[in-house]
Amino acid sequence: MACNKNHRYNPRFNALPFSEEFFNEPERWKCAGCAYDQGFSDARAGRPNNPRLDVLDQSQAGTVRHRNPIEAYNLGYSDGLIP
Ligand SMILES: [Zn+2]
Repeated sequence: MACNKNHRYNPRFNALPFSEEFFNEPERWKCAGCAYDQGFSDARAGRPNNPRLDVLDQSQAGTVRHRNPIEAYNLGYSDGLIP
């Protein structure tokens, strides 16, 4: 499934590293914005840091294009820990 959320164009994700070679299909093109949201909500809910890329939508659009979804998850998780 392809992500069509506005977070695909969030300039914040320009800071994330690319993931051309670190992930195999189908994780390779996972939406970094969706990964960020998953990390954020996990932290807010008190769940452990545990990226689940298999449930995320894919995207090759905007600023999330080819960004590392694990890094995006961790960024969201860190933000979610901030009161
Ligand atoms: Zn997304």
